[in-house]
Order: sequence, then structure tokens, then C-alpha cells
Amino acid sequence: EDSPTIKVCVRVRPFIKEEVEGQRSGGECKLCIDMQTETGLRILNMEGDAEDDARAFEFDRCYWSHSRDHPLFATQETLQKELGETMLEHAMNGFNNCIFAYGQTGSGKSYSVLGGKGEERGLLPRVVEGLFDHFAKLPEGATYKTLVAFMEIYNEQIRDLLAPANDSETKKLEVKQHPVLGTIVPGLTEAAVASSPEVLALVDYGSAMRHVSATAMNATSSRSHCIFTFKTNLTEPEQPSKVSQTHLVDLAGSERAGRTKATGDRLKEGAAINQSLSTLARVISELAKSAKSKKKPNPPFRESKLTYILKESLCGNSKTVMMAAISPNFLDYDETLSTLKFAQSVKQVQTKAVQNAVNMS
Ligand code: ADP
Ligand code: MG
Repeated sequence: EDSPTIKVCVRVRPFIKEEVEGQRSGGECKLCIDMQTETGLRILNMEGDAEDDARAFEFDRCYWSHSRDHPLFATQETLQKELGETMLEHAMNGFNNCIFAYGQTGSGKSYSVLGGKGEERGLLPRVVEGLFDHFAKLPEGATYKTLVAFMEIYNEQIRDLLAPANDSETKKLEVKQHPVLGTIVPGLTEAAVASSPEVLALVDYGSAMRHVSATAMNATSSRSHCIFTFKTNLTEPEQPSKVSQTHLVDLAGSERAGRTKATGDRLKEGAAINQSLSTLARVISELAKSAKSKKKPNPPFRESKLTYILKESLCGNSKTVMMAAISPNFLDYDETLSTLKFAQSVKQVQTKAVQNAVNMS
């Protein structure tokens, strides 16, 4: 069987209110993305001769969420049908999953992962609902167990978003390598949950914690990485147990410090975020290189918290999706182009997902 690559998707958001109303400085908003198929898009340099300066990219899937009148318009439901349901199916069959949203601040990462209310809710709530719907339909005699964790990486420090408010600041969490379980974060809260409202209440709690910490540190959540994880253990009559772990990751904004004119503490934050994001980039380029040359890769997973935690997702036992979120606005051309280039490099990575053999007791 061929090793599948990490699946790479791109999503184009609509113009937001500030852009339409012209409140964003820098000029009027101009659409610089063109998408004609479900797998390809072009970014146009509106400064020159648009046709000459277009750059074309191919991905596994491109989601056009910019304008509803487009024949390929993709909603939150579209993502759930294509990505969420696939993840669930993998999880129920004993495979690990990971989806990470990458892109500059304001490009639509959180919208895809968490989303808003009602029809605007994102992958996380929809996958969780799907999970408990699936459990409800299991045959008699089946047993299942779900654990959830929610953490944030800020300045290369891991923060437990489900810990009681007073604990979370003081508790120092580290990533460890366990001989059987793989990478683990000892001390991280893992809550046993039995329904989707219960999970969503925890997500609300964690998101509020994240907001509080950001305010206290005079930052925004755009500078931290956020990882939601659920583990399942499913046993159906006459069948071996199936265990799985799924990560949904909302990465920090990928924009470079230079653009936001960061200084002092802010710069340090930027540098730390860059440590996780730049290590992610180096890990991916190392994996891509070794995939081509067929030599054993040696990526620097342990050089950042993010890559250490996602180690198994990036190489090994996981089905992984990268969601590159992009702005349609020509003002964001440089960042969008760098996101598209990064997404393209991720496409070269080979992983091979192996069904979990370990029993979670
Ligand atoms: P990020 O998490 O990358 O910083 P957000 O997800 O917060 O970006 O998106 C920025 C803004 O754009 C938000 O107001 C969000 O509601 C809006 N937005 C992003 N993607 C979409 C989309 N597909 N449809 C509608 N609104 C979107
Ligand atoms: Mg966000």
C-alpha cells in the first residue's frame, strides 16, 4: 500500500466587515484569489498585469468560502462532511487523527476549527456531536470511553486550559516520551466525558481561560497555539477494542514579527511562536526531503513543544490534515503567498498511519 501524504487543504474566507467598510488601513480590498476547481487556485498580483503575475497552486482540496454565489462555495457543513466525518471514521477504526489550521491572524483558522454559533459552528463541535451520535447507535453490549484535553502553548510553555483557574498558571507541564504511549504531557487534565454538551462546556471553559491569560499577559490568543485532543476507546461485541487519539489544532498566527513591528516582550513572544512554527516548518521540510530520497528522516521534533506534541501526527501513526487558511485580500498578498508555499511544502511529506494496537485501560 502506498504511504499517503499529509492531506493539504486551503480555505479562502469572505471579506470581513472591516474590509468591506474600508476600516482597514492600507487601501481598498481587492480580491486576489481565483479558484476554478476543487483542487487548484491562483493568487494574483494585482499590481502588475494580473494574468502574467498569477501563481497557480494545486492542493488536495481547496475550499472557497469567499462568496456564496460561487459554484464551489463551501460551508462549515461541507468541511464536516469531507473532513470531520472522515476523521470520525478513522477514530472509530482505531486510527489517530490530526488537523491543524495554519495561516496569518485573521485568515479564518479559528472559524474553521471552532467557528461560531448554530450553522457557523466549526469542525470541533461538529466532530464531537458526530462522535456521540455514533456511540448512540452502537449495538447492545458495546462499550466506549472518551477523554478530552485542551491546552495552549504560549512562549514555549504549555498551559492546561481545563485546569481549575488558580492551578493553570503555576503548573509547569512538559512533554515526555513514553515507551508505549508515545508523546504524553504528564499532569495535563484529561476529562472523562459522556455527551457532546459536556465537551462543549469544557471547550467554552478552556476558551475563556485562554482569553483571561491573553488579557493578563497583554497579548491576544493569536500568539498562542491551541490544541484540543480527544481519545476514544471503543469495544464492540466479538471485536478487539479500538483506541484512537484526535488532535484539533488552532495554530498561532503565522505572520512574521517584522510586520507587526513587535518590540521587547512582544518580540520575545513572537520569537517563541516562531520557535514552534519555524520548527514545524523545519520538521516538515526534513520529512519531505527524506520522503524523496528514501533515507531515514531525523526531524528536530523535540526542539519545540508544538512539534514534540504533534510528533506522532506528523510522522507515524496518524492521518493528518493541514488546513491552510488564507485571506482573499490583496493587502495580505505576501502572507498569503507564504502560507501557500508552506502548504505546498507540506504536501511532500509522507506518513503511514498504522492502526493502534495498544489498549487504553
Ligand atoms: P484567525 O483565527 O485565523 O485569526 P478567524 O477565524 O478569527 O481568524 O477569522 C477572522 C474573521 O473572519 C472572523 O470575524 C471570522 O468570523 C471571519 N471568517 C473567517 N472565515 C470565515 C468564513 N469561512 N465564513 C465567514 N466568516 C469567516
Ligand atoms: Mg484565531
